[in-house]
Amino acid sequence: MSTETINPFEMAVSQIDAVCDRLNVEDVYRLRLEKCERELIVNFPVKMDDGTVEVFTGFRIQHNDTRGPAKGGIRYHPDVTLDETRALAAWMTLKAAVANIPYGGAKGAVICNPKLMSQTELERLTRRYAAEISILIGPENDIPAPDVGTNPQIMAWIMDTYSMTKGYSIPAVVTGKPIEIGGSKGRFEATGRGCVIIANLAARQKGISLEGATVAVQGAGNVGGIAAKLLATKGCRVIAVSDSKGGVYNPKGLDMQGLLDYKKQTGSVAAFNGAETITNAELLALPCDILIPAAIECQVTASNAAQVKARILVEGANGPTTPEADEILYHNGVLVIPDILANTGGVIVSYFEWVQNIESFFWDEEEVNSKLERIMTNAFAEVSEISKAEKTDMRNAAHTLAIRRLVSAMSIRGIYP
Ligand code: NAD
Repeated sequence: MSTETINPFEMAVSQIDAVCDRLNVEDVYRLRLEKCERELIVNFPVKMDDGTVEVFTGFRIQHNDTRGPAKGGIRYHPDVTLDETRALAAWMTLKAAVANIPYGGAKGAVICNPKLMSQTELERLTRRYAAEISILIGPENDIPAPDVGTNPQIMAWIMDTYSMTKGYSIPAVVTGKPIEIGGSKGRFEATGRGCVIIANLAARQKGISLEGATVAVQGAGNVGGIAAKLLATKGCRVIAVSDSKGGVYNPKGLDMQGLLDYKKQTGSVAAFNGAETITNAELLALPCDILIPAAIECQVTASNAAQVKARILVEGANGPTTPEADEILYHNGVLVIPDILANTGGVIVSYFEWVQNIESFFWDEEEVNSKLERIMTNAFAEVSEISKAEKTDMRNAAHTLAIRRLVSAMSIRGIYP
């Protein structure tokens, strides 16, 4: 099955629906979880460097803010859609509930190709998009962060633009900012670091030692690149890494620092010296202990799930496994750690950044990392307990935990008016 045939929001709704069925969730809550609360579409002009004007389309979606302000990244990608943004917003709601941090879920996106734009064009696009969505975002109601195609510099432009409209600096409006303007230590690495915490706990559950464990990572960006590098420092043998241009494979283990330096210089891991070239499809089917899809959604589908030979699959990306693939993997004994648990490191440290901004009091990296480890370890234990007690896989267990917390919060708050 190709990515085009799978609608990520339908996939997110079917995951929520299956758990609501199992938990006998009343329609009054189920219907709210299966829709997004607020959806803003903006079409806005940007002056390009050659003097022409292009009109870009962007979104900001708030899925559910019952447990706290909406929170979620901003994606810049040429193929991003409204339904993909809705799905990502819904997964953020569930993720914050699994980690038990006081946030709802949101997501934003602009249909553009940042790789083909200059820095000045990106800055103008970002500032105009920030102004367009400023009717929704704010430190008390909706806090963006980086996602695919965006980075700390883009967060800085959003923070500056928002602050200019208010007349004073408001660092807490975005997270994932550069440290110099109120970013948190440890935020840049947080999602990759969180994947490593989870991979370690999952490996222990499977009786696998991280020392010498073989790892394949799809996606060499913020999440995948950092997870692969940290796993290598823990003694894992990272045998394959890929990005959108292709992948590299070395059964003896890749030199991770060398590979990431090479990607920085050339823009891709493909053609790295001392490794064989492989495709993304081949990487997903490699025999290994731990597979980390950390690129985009819908990568492990009904058509390739049976070929996955990894013992553990840690979802660094959001939505990389379709529900049909999930069943095949479960049947084949692959331990799948779902996105809403595995990649929560980013939103957890984003929460720390927001707290530090509100208090104007900053923590050292050790404090950030140890608090991150504690929250993720607790969440993993809670999800594992449900998985064992209710004889279900880790995704269903994570959804169960999240939906119970959300239903409870919705029920306590009641319906206005
Ligand atoms: P990124 O832009 O830094 O990196 C994405 C990587 O995936 C790049 O190496 C890119 O080349 C590669 N890629 C893109 N399309 C691909 C394809 N078709 N096949 C193989 N590789 C491909 O993005 P990121 O921030 O690392 O995000 C990756 C995933 O993790 C996304 O699903 C994102 O939503 C999720 N995520 C990110 C964060 C975060 O804090 N950055 C937090 C939680 C989840």
